[in-house]
This record gives sequence, structure tokens and C-alpha cells, in this order.
Amino acid sequence: MPLKLSDMVEVSPHKTGVSLQTIKHHIRAPITQRPNWQFEPALGERKLCEQLQVLSLSSWGAENLRAAHGAAAALLSYAEHTQSQTLTHIQTLQVERNGALIDLPPATLRNLEITQTLRGEDSPTLLSLLDTCRTGMGSRTLRRWLLNPHRDRTQAQSRHEAIAAFHHHGFEPLREAMRHISDIERIASRIGLRQAKPRELSGLRDTLLALPALQATVPQPASQACGLLATLQPPLQAPDELHDILSALATEPAAQVRDGGVIGIGVDAELDELRNLTQNSDAFLVELETRERNRTGINNLRVQFNRVHGYYIEVTSSGLDRIPTDYQRRQTLKNAERFITPELKAFEDKALSAQERALAREKWLFEQIHDALQPHLAYLHALAHALSTLDALAALAERAHTCGWVLPTFVNHPCIEIHAGRHPVVEARLQETQGGAFIANHAQLNEHTRMLVITGPNMGGKSTYMRQVALIVLLASIGSFVPAQRCCIGPVDAIHTRIGAADDLANAQSTFMMEMTEAAAILHSATPYSLVLMDEIGRGTSTLDGLALAGSIAGYLYERNRCFTLFATHYFELTQLAQAYNKAQNVHVSAVESEHNIVFLHDISAGPASRSYGVQVARLAGMPPALITQAQHTLQTLEQQQGPQPLQMDLFSYQNSVPEPSVGQTELERLLASMNPDQLSPREALEALYQLKAVASANT
Ligand code: ATP
Repeated sequence: MPLKLSDMVEVSPHKTGVSLQTIKHHIRAPITQRPNWQFEPALGERKLCEQLQVLSLSSWGAENLRAAHGAAAALLSYAEHTQSQTLTHIQTLQVERNGALIDLPPATLRNLEITQTLRGEDSPTLLSLLDTCRTGMGSRTLRRWLLNPHRDRTQAQSRHEAIAAFHHHGFEPLREAMRHISDIERIASRIGLRQAKPRELSGLRDTLLALPALQATVPQPASQACGLLATLQPPLQAPDELHDILSALATEPAAQVRDGGVIGIGVDAELDELRNLTQNSDAFLVELETRERNRTGINNLRVQFNRVHGYYIEVTSSGLDRIPTDYQRRQTLKNAERFITPELKAFEDKALSAQERALAREKWLFEQIHDALQPHLAYLHALAHALSTLDALAALAERAHTCGWVLPTFVNHPCIEIHAGRHPVVEARLQETQGGAFIANHAQLNEHTRMLVITGPNMGGKSTYMRQVALIVLLASIGSFVPAQRCCIGPVDAIHTRIGAADDLANAQSTFMMEMTEAAAILHSATPYSLVLMDEIGRGTSTLDGLALAGSIAGYLYERNRCFTLFATHYFELTQLAQAYNKAQNVHVSAVESEHNIVFLHDISAGPASRSYGVQVARLAGMPPALITQAQHTLQTLEQQQGPQPLQMDLFSYQNSVPEPSVGQTELERLLASMNPDQLSPREALEALYQLKAVASANT
């Protein structure tokens, strides 16, 4: 299992301004503060070197990550403390650098319903749709991929190739073979902690036995030239020694070692002998019973055993006058007495001790298996990685096949071009619940179009459209096929979303405050490589305030952040953005109105919407007819009073002095290009300097 180190430059509470109080509030769990000295970087470096049995962390490029060393020191001490032992299963490091991953802030994960719905449920989400993995470790791998998409597309591309190979070769045989695979990732960790249960080890044994059949189902690299699949092949051949070690287990061992029956027959001569002693006792007892009946003439005399009193001879009241003198009373019942004889006592001592000794021997042998497995931990982790990756890849291949997804292509210039894209989760739900078809839509964001202003009626599909674009970008970035007919994606460094209303009353944040806080965070961080979704910004305050803010935010995103923006709004005034900015375009979702009804076409077309149909949607929602009539009347009056009012363009116009980014720039150059010293406050300038230093040191 790798220990993940982050360079921590931006995640320390000090830098983000997150107080311990806030963290406490959010996780709502008791927090025990660890002493400061446990966070010492020097201690961490030493502990890491000891853990990994190396002299320096340089082979991971982790020798200068002081903050991460400090965190690792505390983490390792804590884990050692809770496990009361050394952590042999942690055998390698994985360094996660700032800027290596596509930024998915918590609001994005929430709004796009990646692993949890907005209501906090596990389904329907993107993960619940994707996760058809056969093993727990496959599901965990898929979740990790979804939450950690890499900016660099090499990894995603290799997964695309693997999925294509599965398409060509067939994925069902592998998924079928996966049914015989246990959760090796978990079992390997438990072996490392010497806590594996007998059935976990027999699960490991059966998995190893199933590997040759599974390996035959993996597309052969030679036929498909797939590098990733090639790297996953070697661990599928388990060393013979492992088979030998695990063959000591019984075919179907008991759940706990203390129950016995964990070690197979013929494995250990001493154990076999002790077991024989215990098992042969039945024959001896039958023989003793016959002998004693003959000796005493008591025909209903019985020799028995129970856990409390051990072995005894039971004689009912009618035979009590015939008991021999060597019978010693052990227990008196209502209609019978129980006795022990010297011979039975001697047998009892031998049999009980044999049972105890057999159990002790089994326990010792089980420990021996744990010992013998320790040198194979690295292999077991490699096997777990290979199996979980194959499981996750085959699940993605299955999804792509079942849901009709296509292979996206990556290009090096900024663009998000989606032909006939669909929202994967809404589409699946529509098919499940109403058997209805999802209306596919295009999205073209490139050097000619940087912002789409989306208007149209409530329920028209604006939010669905924006989310589907983001989900398609995310799916492509993790290496999945995507729900579209064609898709071409340039470099992406972040997906930001500001969608919907949410109060955070516990933190004294009103809906509007939350809206502005989230929007501010986006304006501070979006770059020309970011995708930004803004849904109905500004509606939490008065119309004029809201309009002014929404216009300014759109202008700022266009001129300063220069990111790809999907901007859904009910302020028709903002459709004028397309006139002010040549790379902004209006699109709208259409609806058709009949006398008493409104039909949403969910189709994205060029140009602004003509009206919003709010009153009609309210009628569909079941508002009282009298209220609807009144609202229609008021609307007409307002429209007549107001008339069309063109918006002043300088509401969203900014002095534009930020140069265009060019392809092939380094992260550092990109950051520098996106900064305008004349427009930075002293505090922003200092933060920018920290950011530059962090990126520079991460790259050295
Ligand atoms: P509001 O302005 O009220 O937030 P909206 O325009 O954002 O509404 P959505 O919430 O995106 O509308 O969509 C409303 C419903 O319409 C969705 O729940 C979905 O069932 C359906 N829908 C949206 N887009 C499509 C589509 N492309 N094809 C089929 N159904 C769709």
C-alpha cells in the first residue's frame, strides 16, 4: 500500500485560512490534537526512511517536501499507535504535487453529483452509474480515478487504449473471471498487520488458483499494442512459493482460528496425531459404555460429555443400587446421578488436553503462515493493483458498450468540442423510469468561443446541459469513454461550478453569501485552462443588484480569467454579452407553448431565448389557477411599464491587459502569463509569489 504525500503547499490550514474550528465543525467528530513535536519534519523524514528501509527519499522526489514529512511523522505515529505494531504493509510512497491533478473543488464534486447526490445519497451519481466493478478493490480504484483526474493525459490515454482493447477482445470473460477474485488489496493490508482471518487467507489462495484462467481473458498486448495492459500481466503469475504456503489451509477453514479446523489434514504430523486422539474418543466411549453396562448390569447406563462437567457416566434412579464402589459422584439430577471413574478421568485428561493442544498447534501453524507471507507483501500489493485496475477498466469498457459511449480524443490547444453529448446519469434515469430518450446536444468551446450564455425556460435543461459538458470532460480525463458521438478535449486544469442555492446556516452563511463566496473562489483561481459553470448567479438578491453582479462576474470571467465558461441566466440583459465580446455566444433551450401547456424540447440552439415561461412552469408545478391568472396579469403590466432597457456594456467590461496563453507553456509560464501585476493588491501579490515559488520548487 503506498503512503500518499502531498507537497501541502496549499492545503495547510495556515495557507488556506481554514481554522481547526472550521474543520471540527465540518467533520462533526471528536478531534484529538496530537502533540506538536509529532509533526517535526526531521522526525518524519527519518520515520519514512525507516518505514521504506531506504537512506533517502530522493527516488520518489520527496526529499525536500518538509511539510509533507511533518504530516507523515504524525500520521505514521498515529497509525502505529492505533495498530500497536509496525506498519509493514506500507511499502512505498506516492507523491501528489500541486498542479498535477485537475482541480475539482468540493462545490464541483457536490454540484456534479460525482459520488453523492445533492441530497447526500450514494445513488444516482456518476460513480454509481460507472461502478459495475466485480470487486470492492475495483470500486475503490474507480472512485480514486474519478476524484483524482490527472492534468497530464498520458495515464488517461493508456486507459482509453485498454478500454478499446477490451472492446475489441470482449470484456465479459474477464468480468466473469473476476467473480472468483477476493479483495486482495484489503487482505494484503491485513496480512501486513498480521490480522488476516482464515477465510481471508483461503480467499487469497482461491484467487491465486483462479489467476491463470483470468489471465487468459486479458487482451494480449501484442494484438492491441496496449502498454497499460502489458504492465498488468506479470503480477498475474503468482510465485509457486505462495501457493505452497497457502496450501496448508483447510479447504473451507473455520471463520476464526479459535474454532479449529483451519489447517488442512496431512500438513502437520503432530496436529494430525492430536486430532486423531480427539476424534477416536467416540469409539472409546462407546466401548466403555458397553463394558460398564455388562459390569454393572445397568442397561440404561450412558457415558456422555458436556462442556461444563466434562465426561461422566449417567445412571437413572432405578440403577443406583447397583453402582460399583469405584464410581465417584459428580452431579445429582432429579431422576439420575452422574459419576466418574478413575479410567474415565484419565481418558478425560488426555482427550481434553489433546483438543487444547490441537488448537494451540493450529494457532501456531496459522502464525507460521502469516510469517511466511510477509516477504510476499510487495507482490500481493502489485497483484491487488493489477486486479483492481483490470476490474475498473473492464467496468468502464462495459459501461461504454452498454451506454453507447465513444472514445474521446485529446488535443494540445484549449478546446472542449462535444458532438451530440448526453448527461450520463440523467439519460440512464430517463431510460429506467420513463423509457424516454435523452436529447443530445453539441458544445463548442475553442479559440473562437470562450463563453456560452445559456438562456431559456425553467425546466428547459440548462443545468443538465452545463453539467453534462463538465461530466464529459471529467470522464475523458479519467480515461473513460464518453456519452457523445464525438468529443475532442484540450488541456484542462480545473472544473469549477457555481450552481444552485444552499444555506450554510451553521457557519452563519446565507444563501446569497454562499453564492458570492463560491463565485469569488472561482474568480480567484480559474485560468484559461479551466472550465467554469455558472448557473443563475445573482438571483439571491434584488433584481438590479443581481443583474449588476451577474454582468460583472461574466465580464471578469471573460476578460480576466479567460476560462471556458458556461453561463446560464434568466437575466435577458446578459444576452448582450455576445455583442460586447466576440468570443461569447448566446445559446438557448427551446420550448413550445400551446394554449394550456408548454413542451420542453431540451434542445440547445444558437441565439438568445425569447422569453422565460416562468408563469407556465409555475402552473405545471400545481399553483392555484387564480394565482396564475393574477401573475399573468401582473407580468403583462410590468412588461408594458418597463419596455426593453439595454444594459450598459461597461457593467461587465474590464481593462484587458492579460496576454493570451500559448500552447506548450510550462505551468510557471502559464501562471505568470495569467497574472497582471498592476491589478494585484499587495496581499494578492504576496500570494502570487508563494504560488510561483511552490510551482517552481515542485518542478525542480
Ligand atoms: P431551471 O432553470 O429551473 O434550473 P433548467 O433549465 O436548468 O431549469 P434542468 O434542471 O436542466 O432545467 O432540466 C429539467 C429536467 O428536464 C431534467 O430533470 C431532465 O429530466 C429533463 N431534461 C433536461 N435536459 C434534457 C435532455 N437533453 N433530454 C431529455 N430530458 C432532459
